[in-house]
Amino acid sequence: MRLFEAIVDANQRASKGDASAGVHVSEYAGSLPVVVLTCIDPRLNSLLPGVLGVPTEQFIWLRNAGNIITSSLSSTTRSLALACAVEGGREIAIIGHTDCKVCHTSVGEIVDRFRALGVQRERLPDNLVEYFGLFASERQNVIKAVDLVRNSPLIGAKIPVHGLLLDTVTGKLECLVNGYQTLSAPLSASPAAHVNVNGPSLTKVAQVSSTEGEEVSSAAPNPTTAPPSPPPLLPRRAIRQRAPWER
Ligand SMILES: [Zn+2]
Repeated sequence: MRLFEAIVDANQRASKGDASAGVHVSEYAGSLPVVVLTCIDPRLNSLLPGVLGVPTEQFIWLRNAGNIITSSLSSTTRSLALACAVEGGREIAIIGHTDCKVCHTSVGEIVDRFRALGVQRERLPDNLVEYFGLFASERQNVIKAVDLVRNSPLIGAKIPVHGLLLDTVTGKLECLVNGYQTLSAPLSASPAAHVNVNGPSLTKVAQVSSTEGEEVSSAAPNPTTAPPSPPPLLPRRAIRQRAPWER
């Protein structure tokens, strides 16, 4: 079992009352630090770290309203890429949450809220759904984001990109996309093939021993720099599309 599989498994056992459920994060040093993108919802501030159980020094936390990825080259995608390339992040997880206000606030309500703040409708773009990346399903939003990041030319092929959904009431974690499986998938594969809608759930964890971040390579993996206990699969996605600026 790999890091995020172990986290979800422990979470599920804990949700069923197993008081001993937990993950010994120190056993997964090769997967640390992790890079996590979540929404800005303040309820996550105290909830998420405990649910993941990853020590703060191994937890690179990016946030935006709605944990939205608008494109494979968006500013958030660039930050995720730099979190791996500069900060040594080894796995990426995009974690949506239930009862997301970005999801459940209508366009009309958003217009009203802006107007109340002194921003009139005519100052906003015509298509607010597209502009803000608004979405109707928290699950689909995560799956779409994972797909865009997974296929980004900026993200190293050996970085797993996971998709999860956190229940803000119960603390249960649901696995939507297992990033270890999509590592070996063809570039054009649909993420739906790896979706686990009824996936596992939740909590607590332990301790970690720190490890140096590895250098992210966009080329073929170098066995000499592989971590001691790496994910058992090496990417077969060596043929990557050329970046737009290279064309
Ligand atoms: Zn939210």
